[in-house]
Amino acid sequence: MRRRDKKWETNDPEYYEFLRMKRSQKKQEINKNKEENKICLRCNDNIYNNHAKYCLLHWISSLGYNVELSKKLLDLLEDQKYRCKISGELLIPGKNASIDHIVPKSKNGLNDINNLQWVTIDINCAKREMSNEEFINLCKRIIYFNQQYI
Ligand SMILES: [Zn+2]
Repeated sequence: MRRRDKKWETNDPEYYEFLRMKRSQKKQEINKNKEENKICLRCNDNIYNNHAKYCLLHWISSLGYNVELSKKLLDLLEDQKYRCKISGELLIPGKNASIDHIVPKSKNGLNDINNLQWVTIDINCAKREMSNEEFINLCKRIIYFNQQYI
């Protein structure tokens, strides 16, 4: 059978494999071009830093948030002026920025913008399942006990 005829043979798995390969090659070429030109792999915006593969929005969504929530999280990051909500440190996406659940998921905290805040990765790891208040109280106890070092 000639290739031309195969095109219309809808049940031919070989032809679908051929199409799939073509598509995947094309996608790889596009991605390579985008990486060279520092363009987000998922849209045509610029990447957010020289080493990133995505724009800021798609970096946030790559953390596991849908695009709608990612847009809100991007607004939130700007509202927080790229500062950690708990320590005030500068947040650098892809380096130290992370999203924290104010009421932890383990205590039925929702994946909702009103329950999310940007903090540093260090703060997020240290805070674990604590509320902001519990965590800050722990920090106070540590500071009180270690006053000689301050
Ligand atoms: Zn993008």
